[in-house]
Amino acid sequence: METILRAENIKRTYTIGKTTLEVLKGVSVDVKSGETVSIMGESGSGKSTLLHVMGGLDTPKSGEVHFRGQSIYGMSGARRSRFRAKNVGFVFQSFHLLPELDILENVALPAMALGSAINAKSRAAELLTEVGLGERIGHRPQELSGGEQQRAALARALMNEPDIIFTDEPTGNLDSKTGDKVLHYLFQLVESRGHTLVLVTHSQDVASRCSRQLVLKDGLLI
Ligand code: ADP
Ligand code: MG
Repeated sequence: METILRAENIKRTYTIGKTTLEVLKGVSVDVKSGETVSIMGESGSGKSTLLHVMGGLDTPKSGEVHFRGQSIYGMSGARRSRFRAKNVGFVFQSFHLLPELDILENVALPAMALGSAINAKSRAAELLTEVGLGERIGHRPQELSGGEQQRAALARALMNEPDIIFTDEPTGNLDSKTGDKVLHYLFQLVESRGHTLVLVTHSQDVASRCSRQLVLKDGLLI
């Protein structure tokens, strides 16, 4: 399979005052097209940091991330934003929906930003129907349960048909039954479309649903 994303020798430190924390100490990983990859590791081990670096959200101190052979941190900030909007979908632990918009608008927004607004709303409605929210499209996020909000966030992440989807503990704020439902939709959407997924999780159960499992420990992937 084709390599879609290659991270090479990623180092990331955080400096607060005089203390420097080395979070990623030279992480390398290849993600192949269509793979589902889980990343586990203790709290504070750098999972979110790695996911943000891989997704083009956080510039590493050193190392390279190549997306289909192109260096994403070699791009200007504006080009990298466009690159992300077109190619990358994110789902975060806290759903990050905009409270002043209804969920149809929230889901349609990424496509509007790319300038293809014409069919954005009908596509958003289709995706929301696929995640079981067809009846709720006019509702604001705060009128939905946590699980429903996360399903809307899933629909939004898929809106631009991204080549790769990153999810950071997508069920971390949900009870286990609600979380299972969100995961059911996530894997169904990803697998039916052959998307590539990189998923951070605390749960061995969730990790075992992925085609490859990675663990982050002491700043390195093992
Ligand atoms: P995880 O997602 O595995 O819990 P994170 O990537 O969020 O871990 O964080 C890794 C380490 O880096 C933690 O010790 C955390 O406190 C620290 N850290 C994360 N973000 C920042 C930041 N913006 N400034 C300073 N330290 C940070
Ligand atoms: Mg985290």
